[in-house]
Amino acid sequence: MTDPRDTVLSCEQFQALLPELIGSGVDINRHPHMRSCDLCRELLAELETIAEAARQLFPTVEPPDDLWNQIESAIRKEEQSPDHDCDARDEIHPVLKAEPTTGND
Ligand SMILES: [Zn+2]
Repeated sequence: MTDPRDTVLSCEQFQALLPELIGSGVDINRHPHMRSCDLCRELLAELETIAEAARQLFPTVEPPDDLWNQIESAIRKEEQSPDHDCDARDEIHPVLKAEPTTGND
């Protein structure tokens, strides 16, 4: 991990690499960009604070991949179009649509 190009990464490039770096388990604080960039040091400190808070909230529960998929698809559904909510409701409660015909003659 001593690629000289690391030192000339922009913040944007470095932050794009962050998930990969975190996933690979390297000590990000030793990254050349971290040594030279206060901004990204603060960013990572914030991320670590959030991660630590999450660990304290859910000390034992390891969220399964499934859960994240469900959350993701739930978010996607909401983003797509809230208008569909009305249609869905009609499908769920067809009874409400069917007005009782009690002979209006
Ligand atoms: Zn930076």
